[in-house]
Amino acid sequence: MKYPRPTIPLKPTLCWPTFTGYHNPTVSSILDNKFVLKVTSGRVAIALALKDGGISSNHKVLVPAYHCTSMIEPVVWTGASPVFYRIHNDTSVDLNDIENKIDSTTKAIIVTHYFGFPQNMNLIRSFCDRYGLTLIEDCAHSFFGVFNSQAIGSVGDYAIASAMKFFPIYDGGILASSKNNVSTINLKPAGWRFHIKTTLNNMEYSFEYRRFPLLRIVLKLPFYIKDLFWKKIKTRKESSEQSLGPGASDGAYEFDPKWLYTPTSFSSRLILSTSSKAHVTGLRQRNYNILHNALSDLKGCIPLFRELPNDVIPYIYPLLVDYPEKVFPILKKKGVPILRFGELLWPDMDTTICDNTMVLSRKLLQFPVHQELKLLEINWMITEIVRAINSSL
Ligand SMILES: *Cc1c(COP(=O)(O)O)cnc(C)c1O
Repeated sequence: MKYPRPTIPLKPTLCWPTFTGYHNPTVSSILDNKFVLKVTSGRVAIALALKDGGISSNHKVLVPAYHCTSMIEPVVWTGASPVFYRIHNDTSVDLNDIENKIDSTTKAIIVTHYFGFPQNMNLIRSFCDRYGLTLIEDCAHSFFGVFNSQAIGSVGDYAIASAMKFFPIYDGGILASSKNNVSTINLKPAGWRFHIKTTLNNMEYSFEYRRFPLLRIVLKLPFYIKDLFWKKIKTRKESSEQSLGPGASDGAYEFDPKWLYTPTSFSSRLILSTSSKAHVTGLRQRNYNILHNALSDLKGCIPLFRELPNDVIPYIYPLLVDYPEKVFPILKKKGVPILRFGELLWPDMDTTICDNTMVLSRKLLQFPVHQELKLLEINWMITEIVRAINSSL
């Protein structure tokens, strides 16, 4: 079924700074770790972490059954075998299940802080120490956060994040560590065409949602020329591997090693370093709480988490819906920006590997809480969600 383009952006878009009074200056981010490397995507950062950690073929890497395939592709690329472990119904890691799956070739584990809510890293760290596992914290949903008063990501041997999920940027992945000096990994600067493409794409997404109406008119001609130019290059290079932007930036799930050593583009770095972190975190929490207050007591759904702790900066609002097969298409058709994490799973995933994953990947709908949502947009979204869920009962 074809759905219309949503009227509200699914991810942050560039826009003029606004003064809302919502600030949370206290929360740190993955960038506060001792060593930081800025690459083009989270999946590239996973691949670099595995490589730096000495993972190769003949090794096994533990990965969560509840995943997106872009987390698994880099594991397969190293030649190692992914071994899927169970999670509990609140997305916390099932260490008993993991214990049963470990053998002498199991070398690393990827642990995801789903939707911004940290796992119990004390337990997981001591477990990894006991079995000699390299611990990779997947902070794709938790760019911001703390654990034991330290920046999120500091407990693992490595941590990765996807900056595109929290900032209005076309490309951006983080590899961080408090233990291994990842900042010395040699990156090769990209060519000028990459920087032009990323700069234009950073603006284009925001124009699509009419965030800069005047600028959009001024730049109409340059964008027209860009589109012509890119179409030409694309058809010319269709057969070769060359592409000007990482697939990760265009919503694809695959891992392309071509981007392994490319640093984050100039324009994305600039936006990342100039965005107010206090503003982003304060507004995400505000938006989450508005959705939570409106939906947590509604019949036909239940929030994944009962409350939002002060130091959790949410990626999205996760809501478990009783009849997702009815609700999801209604909301899509209305133009509510909505996704399901783990909707597409690695082949052969089933309830014997993780019963909870199969439920979550079907029932959990994720609604945006990003900083550029306007109150009017959130209220419209709530009205549509309530209507869709009521009509599903
Ligand atoms: C998106 C995502 C990734 C990969 O990040 P990209 O920047 O898209 O490569 C890894 N882990 C999780 C949990 C994700 O949601």
